[in-house]
Amino acid sequence: MDSREIRVMPDWLKNQIAAGEVVERPASVVKELVENSLDAGARRVVVEVVDGGLTSIRVVDDGCGMGPEDARRSLLRHATSKLYGPDDLLAIGTLGFRGEALPSIASISRFTLATRRAADQSGLRLHCEGAGPLTEEVAGLAPGTEVLVVDLFFNTPARRKFMKSPRAEAGRVAEILEELALGHPAVHFLLLSDGRKVLEAPASADPLGRLWAVLGAEVCNNLFECRLEGPVAVRGFISQPDFHRSTRGLVHLFVNGRPVKDRTMMAAVTGAYGPRLPKGRFPVAVLDVLLPTDQVDVNVHPAKSEVRFQNSGAVFGALSRALTLTLEEAPWSALGTKAQRPAPPRSPQTPVTPNSSLPFRAPQARELPGEAFAMAPSSPTRGVFDEALPALTEVPAGSVLEAILEPAAERYLGAFADCYLIFSAPEGVLFVDQHAAHEGLLFQDLLEGWGAGGVRKQGLLVPLTLAFTPAEVRVLVEYSAHLRRAGIELEDFGGGSVLISALPPDFSVGALKATLQEAAAALEGLPVLPGKELLPRQRQMLATMACKGAVKAGDRIAPAEARRLLELLRKRGVKHCPHGRPVLRSLSLEDLERWFKRAQ
Ligand code: ADP
Ligand code: MG
Repeated sequence: MDSREIRVMPDWLKNQIAAGEVVERPASVVKELVENSLDAGARRVVVEVVDGGLTSIRVVDDGCGMGPEDARRSLLRHATSKLYGPDDLLAIGTLGFRGEALPSIASISRFTLATRRAADQSGLRLHCEGAGPLTEEVAGLAPGTEVLVVDLFFNTPARRKFMKSPRAEAGRVAEILEELALGHPAVHFLLLSDGRKVLEAPASADPLGRLWAVLGAEVCNNLFECRLEGPVAVRGFISQPDFHRSTRGLVHLFVNGRPVKDRTMMAAVTGAYGPRLPKGRFPVAVLDVLLPTDQVDVNVHPAKSEVRFQNSGAVFGALSRALTLTLEEAPWSALGTKAQRPAPPRSPQTPVTPNSSLPFRAPQARELPGEAFAMAPSSPTRGVFDEALPALTEVPAGSVLEAILEPAAERYLGAFADCYLIFSAPEGVLFVDQHAAHEGLLFQDLLEGWGAGGVRKQGLLVPLTLAFTPAEVRVLVEYSAHLRRAGIELEDFGGGSVLISALPPDFSVGALKATLQEAAAALEGLPVLPGKELLPRQRQMLATMACKGAVKAGDRIAPAEARRLLELLRKRGVKHCPHGRPVLRSLSLEDLERWFKRAQ
């Protein structure tokens, strides 16, 4: 590069560069503006977005407002009312402090700030477009502040290109607001997206009331309080160990009310549950760590979502202790099993069981502990007969035992342990793992249907409504095209629930909710329209559907269904479930004779 003269950047360029760090997407604007409202002591914050905030974002609060001089100054770079001297930086008690948000946002949008202090006769409205000049007018306003951000990124097309669909951006906005609402239960929050109310959280003296509004009744019914006093105090709620999710998405962590992403804290939470949770599963937790502001450095990242602790060991220790105490003292530990534990109050909504003409459905299905996959152990435990017992073999193609699979030859003897269907033939005995078998068949159906453009659907006579968290509802609705292709028809039913009107035939509804939760986790982040190829995460969703939609170990199966299951396995040559476990094994007559020393 040729040598070029060095120049100090003009302010508008500095602002746009800062905006690159502070304003990643519409949700970041919402975060900064709502943080300002909270710092201004607002009791009520209304957020309105259009097209996920890409078209416009409006944040209105009833906080302290600004006088005309401060209003003008607030748009200058590095202008803040929250830090005056070096000592202030060591003990930050407000959410904002960098004085960057307003000038950054104003530099990349058509920006209007209207504000009035309660004591002033009138307010001031300031307007600017990108790097353009500031205009102002006196305005009659209610006390408080209103910021309107129109056409975000209109002058930074590179950034605009990285935006997702309006719906996805609206989802991010809702997530940010939920997080802030969880950290500030005494403030009334309202979020409107394209005119529709997405979140309303009235001020609540009781933190559980706020959790109820944000996370929904079902999650709250499974939470227990978690508290610790001391130099590092902990306040919050955590889920009982048998209520878990496939992602960390419902672990909400705060430091002095500020939402944070912190590995140490996350490790303390998952570590405290330890083996109480199945592998790869995560709890629900809303935890605020309270400590003196001079012991935490919040000036680590422009978006202020990361922190550095002076003594991270103490934070880890306090969180671990708080969680361990709750987990050890809670009723489920003393009583052992879920069935014996007094059930927490349930929401009145129970899923309606649709008409059951589908084979293999077990409406009275016994739920196995912890909604986990009901799978037989992959390696059989060894018992006293180990030595004498010949190894069970999978049915090899062309073997004598293939004969057992001849439709005419088989005879159903019954089920052992409500899981292994046993058939006999002159050549030997055949065992079928009912769950693995049904799962393998469903998976084959789903894969074939997906490949052919859509899995066959069966309308439910009585549609089902299921309750989810607002975030889960958003993802499910956003990815409904994927689900439709997988044979599940659903729509937003309002109030945190979805209405399911069709499912693949032969699909058990017992674990439908868990299926959809896992599907949402698998799909989130993919393009909203399924493409030609089957992506690994879509395949994972289909495998989950097959696993959860199949009869479980423990479900009773009628003899006719057992025979039909074998018939289908035979016809379609399904030998393994999606996890690779065998579905059929056999013991030949010769094996038995050797076992009983009738033959060599
Ligand atoms: P910071 O929050 O880091 O101070 P901002 O650019 O976000 O920086 O805001 C600049 C200043 O504008 C704040 O320090 C505050 O004094 C004032 N301000 C911003 N938003 C509001 C609001 N909603 N109500 C009252 N004052 C506000
Ligand atoms: Mg701020």
